[in-house]
Amino acid sequence: MLRDGMYIDGAWRPAAGPGLIDVVNPVDEQVIAQVPAGDAQDVDTAVRAARAALPGWAATPPAERAARLAALRDVLAARQDEIARTITAELGSPLAFSQAVHSALPVAVTGSYAELAATYAFEEKVGNSVVHLEPVGVVGAITPWNYPLHQIVAKVAPALAAGCTVVVKPAEDTPLTARLFAEAVHEAGVPAGVFNLVTGRGPVAGQALVEHPGVDLVTFTGSTAVGRAVAAIAGAAVKKVALELGGKSANVILPGADLARAVNVGVANVMANSGQTCSAWTRMLVHRDQYDEAVALAATAAAKYGDRIGPLVSARQRDRVRGYIRQGVAEGARLVTGGPEAPRPTGFYLSPTVFAEVTPDMTLAQEEIFGPVLSVLRYEDEADALRIANGTVYGLAGAVWAGEEARAVAFARRMETGQVDINGGRFNPRAPFGGYKRSGVGRELGAHGLAEYLQTKSLQF
Ligand code: NAD
Repeated sequence: MLRDGMYIDGAWRPAAGPGLIDVVNPVDEQVIAQVPAGDAQDVDTAVRAARAALPGWAATPPAERAARLAALRDVLAARQDEIARTITAELGSPLAFSQAVHSALPVAVTGSYAELAATYAFEEKVGNSVVHLEPVGVVGAITPWNYPLHQIVAKVAPALAAGCTVVVKPAEDTPLTARLFAEAVHEAGVPAGVFNLVTGRGPVAGQALVEHPGVDLVTFTGSTAVGRAVAAIAGAAVKKVALELGGKSANVILPGADLARAVNVGVANVMANSGQTCSAWTRMLVHRDQYDEAVALAATAAAKYGDRIGPLVSARQRDRVRGYIRQGVAEGARLVTGGPEAPRPTGFYLSPTVFAEVTPDMTLAQEEIFGPVLSVLRYEDEADALRIANGTVYGLAGAVWAGEEARAVAFARRMETGQVDINGGRFNPRAPFGGYKRSGVGRELGAHGLAEYLQTKSLQF
């Protein structure tokens, strides 16, 4: 049960301290493994390894870095089934979802960075200058548990493509996936020290990584509260920092849209991964003339989702979501389906939940719940819809549905958010992902994600 060691400098090494972290299966609440709880000493060893490996990796031709990323993509593809099973075991997501999304998306993203590393212009001419795009240096990456492999790959793949070296501190709840990733990096022939993994607790190992003077860039995905603290520490040390934080995204259904499709896709978007998706469209905005019909459609769609939904990741998250559901009722929203009760005797389950009569000022409409909870809000006209859509501190994603695409696009252009899906547009793993306002700083994925890990040097002639 004990998965010993940290992956540092190309080998599995014993942790400095004796602490352990239990990994719990959210379906049956059983402890399935233990991993070492790394401390500041482990972080220091890992950062030193990353620093030592930096000059060699930064000087490695992009084509060779691309070849290692292509090899990593192939290893991840070959081990996809094992990855999906591991994610299901520690996150609780249904196996079909782990296969279709959790283990498949990282293969696509790693592949996109293999291509980008090979084709990106790491040098450009500006008048009498040649501008070199050089790696920022050693990256400290802190990741959450909700998409355990994707969140790691979305940071590590562009960092390696750029020529940076990395230390990852993964979330406490999902360290087994991170360990599998380290094995894959090793198998792909990435040189020792280029990628390092320290499992551990946020306030100990995570904080030590943010504070370490050998780290040049901190990239963090997780809660706004921790993100703010991370940014303050990194900022005080004049380190670059990238943050992917929460969201409260709006799904705006304009009159003339295919209402049934917009509602059904919207409900699926919220319930997928048990609502534990930072970009989930947790606020559905419907015109008052279609409001009752939309609420009825949403309730049916959510109830149908009932047996396809996995548990929340932990008892803590389940209790947090329950608290929000109870607060929604107390503030006067109407519970249409679902609720705070446990639908099963064991496991951290909650039923898909839909609230109607949610007003923009309610907690349900303002705070990130991170569970299978949809709020349906009523608007009077387009101007009102835009005010509501933009009326939170967040701005990560969103959707607009309309009869005419041009009308949806015109609305989307006025939304304060980093991504908008038009009439059900598909997720694009090469499009920049990241937030306006309090949803974060910086972008991940594609060429924009690569640029985060580069800095410029201009030579004048
Ligand atoms: P969190 O912010 O506490 O944890 C995210 C990561 O930060 C983990 O690896 C954790 O160990 C680390 N961390 C915690 N404290 C730290 C510190 N002081 N210094 C450095 N690193 C630290 O998030 P959580 O508790 O896992 O989830 C709580 C809420 O965060 C969720 O309910 C949700 O709202 C939000 N969340 C957002 C995302 C996202 O993708 N934007 C992902 C997961 C969670």
